[in-house]
Amino acid sequence: MRKMNRAKILDMFRRKGPMAVADLAHEAKLTFPAVSRIVKELVESGILQVKGVGASSGGRKPTLYELNPQAVFAVGVDVSVDEIRVGLMDLEARWVGQERIKVPERGEPQAFVDNIAAGLDRLVQKTGVNGSRILGMGVSVPGPVDSESGTVFHPPNLPGWGEVPLKSRLEEELRLAVKVEKDANVAALGEKWFGAGQDADHILYVFVGEGIGGGLILGGLLYRGAGFGAGEIGHATLDLDGPRCNCGNHGCLEVLASGLALVRRVREEIRRGAESSFFPDPDRILFGDVLLALKEGDPLVKRLAEEASRLLGIGLASVIHAFLPQKVVIGGKLPQAFPDMVEISALKAKERLNPVFRDRVKIEAANLGEDSTITGAAALVLEDLFTFQWR
Ligand SMILES: [Zn+2]
Repeated sequence: MRKMNRAKILDMFRRKGPMAVADLAHEAKLTFPAVSRIVKELVESGILQVKGVGASSGGRKPTLYELNPQAVFAVGVDVSVDEIRVGLMDLEARWVGQERIKVPERGEPQAFVDNIAAGLDRLVQKTGVNGSRILGMGVSVPGPVDSESGTVFHPPNLPGWGEVPLKSRLEEELRLAVKVEKDANVAALGEKWFGAGQDADHILYVFVGEGIGGGLILGGLLYRGAGFGAGEIGHATLDLDGPRCNCGNHGCLEVLASGLALVRRVREEIRRGAESSFFPDPDRILFGDVLLALKEGDPLVKRLAEEASRLLGIGLASVIHAFLPQKVVIGGKLPQAFPDMVEISALKAKERLNPVFRDRVKIEAANLGEDSTITGAAALVLEDLFTFQWR
């Protein structure tokens, strides 16, 4: 109970800024002595500090307290296909420092562990942050993760990785509490805590990059389902006889509306004689080229991206009917290059939604951009301070 109240009080400071004990007690519906005791402990541990005095409501002026943003820090790590990012975040979600590391040539897990450790060392030296003030490390990885044990299972984008106990390897190396989570879940958490999802408790986060994935926040907490694959909306079937997906099924949302689907559609159209000054050779089109063509406003790619956006909207409608989130947050490289994707898919989804649902769900663009994963990785650590979960 004490832990739960402590988290509740800290979260009020995080959201509302400086407060006096009486106001905290009133808002948190706790007794004055209980709040007073918790605040005293938090001041002693350095997490809270005295801000000054507030306005008097008759008697003595009350002492105002606030979070000490530099009391403790969280490390966020984003492991992606081409780079590792390591960042140090303070209690007010400001980055005090970040390092970008090119993914090691030999892609074995140990090389990643060594690089993360070296990156954190450099950060600590550069920022002068005392190592004892680091609360823990959250790691985002592109692939299936058992977040209980922190084991990563054969991520398709990281060849050379089998079943890797990443959490225990990092904890041994760093002597720091580590949490490991799949990238889409982490990005969902990042948007919930510090991005487009801050005002919602039920969120569906969807990313559209080369593939399509997602993460679910239900009742303010990450939903992991029975195993660790919840939120994989990219493999919802949209077309029974559609093209074959990497997963072996046909007509998945991912094979119709993702970045790689768009690459395939551009190739098909050019082979059929469509004109595009961007792609002289249909056999050599990469996802990056398509993103560039979108940014430049190439009409063929734009038309096909609009088509993909409508299909995404149809897929979203099914998922919204199942979960009725307050907010759907759409992120990833494709909507970043083609922002219309959000509006087109939102219109299409709403067209298909039960009218009772339609006005209750907001569909919006993510707002942390490529930072949603590293931010969410740090939030995995901060979450323990500001929320209480029965585990
Ligand atoms: Zn599939």
